[in-house]
Amino acid sequence: MPLYAGFDLGGTQLKYGLLDERLHPVFKNKAPTPPTMTGLLDLFGRLWEEMRRSERRTIKAVGFGIPGIFNLKEQKIYQSPNYSDLDGFDLRPAIAHHIKAPFWIDNDANIAAYGEYRCGAGKGVRHLLLLTLGTGVGSGIIIEGELLHGSCGYAAEMGHIVVNPDGERCNCGSRGCLETEAAAGPIVRNYRKLAPTGDSLTAEEVAKRANKGDSAARKSFERAGYYLGIGLGIAINLLNPEKILIGGGVMESSALILPHAVAEAGRRSYKASFACCSIVKASLGNDAGFMGAAAFARDRL
Ligand SMILES: [Zn+2]
Repeated sequence: MPLYAGFDLGGTQLKYGLLDERLHPVFKNKAPTPPTMTGLLDLFGRLWEEMRRSERRTIKAVGFGIPGIFNLKEQKIYQSPNYSDLDGFDLRPAIAHHIKAPFWIDNDANIAAYGEYRCGAGKGVRHLLLLTLGTGVGSGIIIEGELLHGSCGYAAEMGHIVVNPDGERCNCGSRGCLETEAAAGPIVRNYRKLAPTGDSLTAEEVAKRANKGDSAARKSFERAGYYLGIGLGIAINLLNPEKILIGGGVMESSALILPHAVAEAGRRSYKASFACCSIVKASLGNDAGFMGAAAFARDRL
């Protein structure tokens, strides 16, 4: 039975692994993300050779999940917020130089959504949205069983829909995006506004305080959940998804945020559409990326 390789490039870690024909993982590992493009390309080549040598079975195709806005037509990263060396870089020929097998490249959040669709909580769900709430908000959309790319490949940027017109400035140039209102940073920001403190804080720490009964901490999650719910309501009205999966670090504290988000989505969306959508936690965690990349390569081959 042949194998398929997947690479998921993050700001600090490159996760990679192999799936078999049934999309079961047979190997996974991670490596620190090199700071330079040359280092990254060499690492792709070296890991590919290692996997090829250690496996008796043929690795038939490779998928890459790359952070940033990926132009499908030109096969170039238009802009990568956390890996600026990738901006405008002609990735396809550079990878082809190191890896002699068919390969596909896509945006990392799209690829993670594909992973959940083929291997995780979205298995068999043909209309699906994945949102990941971490440092930022990533998203990928499956419609009729296919990734939604839009005309250039830039679709599914749910993190940058505006949920609070008077909200904080966002890196994208807009204001009050889902990413500036419902990610880890905004939860900490909400808390500091309600309970000013000199302590260095993370969303995880705010969650701990919330679970101990700190009402400012609970409200910080509730506020983020409110804006998340507005975003979910927009997605439900626009896409009529069967499932919305939510993953990322913030969902470690899902009990603090998700009920508020679901309630708000219910108030903000068309009743019939809300009724046929379940909003649940994603299931693959950090493995969604490499599994999605490998599954995508298998399905495309
Ligand atoms: Zn934005």
